[in-house]
Amino acid sequence: MFFKCRNCGGNIVYDPDKKAMCCPHCDSLDSEEKVDSPALTETLKVTCASCGAPVDIKEHTSATRCPNCGNYFVIDERVTGSFKPHLIIPFKLGKNTAKDLLRKEFDKRPFTPQGFMTNASLDKMEGTYVPFFMYDYHSDMNYQAVGTKVRHWSDGSYEYTETSYYDVTRAMNADFDKVPVDASIAMDDGLMDLIEPYNYTELEGHQDKYLSGFLSEKYNMGERELTPRAEQKVIKDSQEMLHASVSGYATLTEVNETISPTKKAVDYALLPVWEYIYGYQGKEYKYHVNGQTGKVLGETPVAKGKVIAYGCTVFGLMAAFGFLIRAILLVM
Ligand SMILES: [Zn+2]
Ligand SMILES: [Zn+2]
Repeated sequence: MFFKCRNCGGNIVYDPDKKAMCCPHCDSLDSEEKVDSPALTETLKVTCASCGAPVDIKEHTSATRCPNCGNYFVIDERVTGSFKPHLIIPFKLGKNTAKDLLRKEFDKRPFTPQGFMTNASLDKMEGTYVPFFMYDYHSDMNYQAVGTKVRHWSDGSYEYTETSYYDVTRAMNADFDKVPVDASIAMDDGLMDLIEPYNYTELEGHQDKYLSGFLSEKYNMGERELTPRAEQKVIKDSQEMLHASVSGYATLTEVNETISPTKKAVDYALLPVWEYIYGYQGKEYKYHVNGQTGKVLGETPVAKGKVIAYGCTVFGLMAAFGFLIRAILLVM
């Protein structure tokens, strides 16, 4: 589907700054009309509903930009039936805010190559919705340990040490809501774990219009396949809760720890990430900005020319400093 402006026929996109569907051509708000796209063919081609050009669609793409006319559209087959997302956090930060956050972060770092943070390069940044499964769990936790407390005192003649032993037991349970696990093969799991947390209270019912203006993927790893990752997270958090509840002992010897997580419900959700890919000396550097919280992730490429210049400056300063000290010593 394609969101067309009723006033001027342009492509209406979701504008995170205005929190509305906005026409970038005539500035009208909420004037969109949904135009259905022709069906996706078996060879993964779709005809752009805006300009009629045939567009190649990748295996998991659910929203994209037409390379011919530049308009954004949604692949109907990838957002319906079993692929219909239940929940979404719509982009909260617009492209300009994401650019500013990246600049602020990387301007501080030395050795970044020229052109890395120019407006022209940063314009290639795209907003992408990443598919996640959100798991609800109930966790039963049991813990037994032997704890010791030690008391020292003296009566003038002797030093006393008293060690008391305690049977420490804990039986707790907790409900974990919306434990997120990314369901995209292309997105690095470690990266997605780092770009969290999102503020999950802002999850809302999915609406296709939020995808207009962005790229998106449908889930490409199944909910069952990802269950072990959700369970690991629940077990780790449960362990932390258990251990935090036991304190004040000099030593603690664990006898038994049982954590039994039970899966209660699963939702399919889309979460927003800005992605900026910068090619430098044959290598691709990827930067991500959480599209809701603004958290920035990425490694800076190091410009070789600049390192040498910086090294020289430091060396020069050191030499001057050494000379100054010698001069003072001679005077003394
Ligand atoms: Zn318009
Ligand atoms: Zn087109």
